[in-house]
Amino acid sequence: MKSYNRDFQRYVLLNLINAFGPISRTKLMEMSGFRLATVGEIAKELLDEGLAVEAGLSAHSTGRRRPTVDLNRRAICAVGISIAHNRATAVLARLDGTIVREEVCQGDPGCGPDALTELIARCVERLLADVGDMHMVGIGIGDPLVDPAGYQKGSPISANYRHFNDWVHLRLNPMLEARFGLPVRTLSAVTLPALVERQYGTAKGSDNFICVELSNGIGTSIYCNGTPISGAHGVAGELGHTVVDLNARELCYCGKAGCVETGASFPELARSIAAAIERGASTSLGHGDLSPQALRKALEAGDSLCRHYVDRAARLAGTAIANAVNLLNPERIVLYGYMLELGGFYLDRLGEAIRSQTLELSRDYEICTSPELESRIPLGAAAEMFTQFLHSDEYRWVYSMLKEGSTP
Ligand SMILES: [Zn+2]
Repeated sequence: MKSYNRDFQRYVLLNLINAFGPISRTKLMEMSGFRLATVGEIAKELLDEGLAVEAGLSAHSTGRRRPTVDLNRRAICAVGISIAHNRATAVLARLDGTIVREEVCQGDPGCGPDALTELIARCVERLLADVGDMHMVGIGIGDPLVDPAGYQKGSPISANYRHFNDWVHLRLNPMLEARFGLPVRTLSAVTLPALVERQYGTAKGSDNFICVELSNGIGTSIYCNGTPISGAHGVAGELGHTVVDLNARELCYCGKAGCVETGASFPELARSIAAAIERGASTSLGHGDLSPQALRKALEAGDSLCRHYVDRAARLAGTAIANAVNLLNPERIVLYGYMLELGGFYLDRLGEAIRSQTLELSRDYEICTSPELESRIPLGAAAEMFTQFLHSDEYRWVYSMLKEGSTP
């Protein structure tokens, strides 16, 4: 039987190799404080299990060049599942972030939890057929904000919000665990964008950042003080439904007036422009095409109607984002979603609105874009399985050495 101490040593080394690999055994000894013999034994164990690989000689040491080991990132894999409106997207992903295979399944509206559970299980089955000799660490499921098994089109937003969805926790999760004999973990879907971005994106290793979705809706995924935030009922980050216009009379679909989303989401922006054209406003926009690409062209050509409405949408979204910045003090704001396709005019106005409304104290942040994020959301659930497999949360001090510049 392995001792607690041996497990501790194994995970320290696994996380050191993950953070600093390729790394020599001598360097691992120095960084961990373990005996060289212990490091050698555990490294051999990891190599034998296929979790680590020999990775050539160290290149930069001032002394002798030594053989290094690295994590076998292409051989460690997990399944990540994201569910929205009867549609589930599941990916088989490697620890290095590559997606081996993606499966999408779509249930009929109101198909019920049993049918949806079975559809998802079949998706997972197809993905697992591709695992081959890779080391599969488990299945992560993003618990959806809206109940896909009982979605009622046209009903008030509150009727469709079902956090946390019982069927995901009580049916899907145990069924996958029993059928495939793998660890299965359910996590709040609102955290998935932040989890992907922290492991693989522009916020890599950051402990304080927000991802802001700019598309059909406006929402955030929050990572604060090293923790993904989902809130008491799993609906944290609903930035789109924060009120920024006290004079607004038009109701948002959530039932309130003055929500950011009523002026700043893409469908609302396109609707405002269409209404202005209907009223006879002059514009260079062609008839019918109000796609982000068409708007971008008009913005670049200096179309004043288009500029007016896009400027308004950017200022509304910027106000809400600035409020979030004042509240959370992130070091990074990652923008994603198809509204990025509106281009430089939109992003400049958005950036100005954010910067002009954040406290000087919290102004030390970067704004960046992550155009791929939207399509990589299921990868967030797989990323969480890797974190769990490596027990990375318990060994954060290893990763904090990365920030302190203590590189091998
Ligand atoms: Zn609202």
